[in-house]
Amino acid sequence: MKQSIGIDGPAGAGKSTVAKRIAAILNIPYLDTGAMYRAVAVAAKRHGVAFDDEAAVATLIGAIDMKVRYSETGEQHILVDGEDVTGELRTEEISQGASLVSRVPAVRDRLTELQREVAHEQRVVMDGRDICTNVLPDTPYKFFVTASAEERANRRYKQLIESGQPAEYETILADIIRRDKQDSERAYKPLYCGADTKRIDTTEMTIEEAVEAILAEV
Ligand code: C5P
Repeated sequence: MKQSIGIDGPAGAGKSTVAKRIAAILNIPYLDTGAMYRAVAVAAKRHGVAFDDEAAVATLIGAIDMKVRYSETGEQHILVDGEDVTGELRTEEISQGASLVSRVPAVRDRLTELQREVAHEQRVVMDGRDICTNVLPDTPYKFFVTASAEERANRRYKQLIESGQPAEYETILADIIRRDKQDSERAYKPLYCGADTKRIDTTEMTIEEAVEAILAEV
């Protein structure tokens, strides 16, 4: 196994922006594992499976085929049963759905297997919720990128407003707090910062500073 870089943290902390920059600087692939959980939620929706029906979600993950592919420009695409679902992953419904289906052990175990296969073939930067604690516990490069819930909601709010989309700060904050609770309180492989993981609080830091803090270690 090559020495990949794992980055965990709560929703909206800037993990993926940081991970993408690091991958570009080190010229290695970036694996967004949240997109894989989101793709399971998309598949559940298509198959009429309720996100919180744990038994049906467990059956579903055994029945679908998921593949991660990269375009020539390095963009990650997720294929479910041969169909590219990448364009459907970023809605509030699918964010919540991903957080619910990710509680199911069969889902976590299957996606962990796929993620390890990717890291087995090459050195990668991977971000998610359980990369340092579960997927790549042996890598020496483990980071937990976080920020206060208010700051994360504020960033998301600004992002939406700047892209001309409707946004309400209070709703965004409530969604973030609900997802944090679901992700860190689930019974199986919850989100937490392990003792051997470097915690980077970006509440009062720029993305560039967070990138530098990680690069200094790797
Ligand atoms: O990172 P992103 O917001 O896209 O992740 C969506 C959801 O997928 C998270 O809220 C979490 O419940 C789940 N997830 C997970 N483990 C990962 C990545 C994501 O449980 N490694």
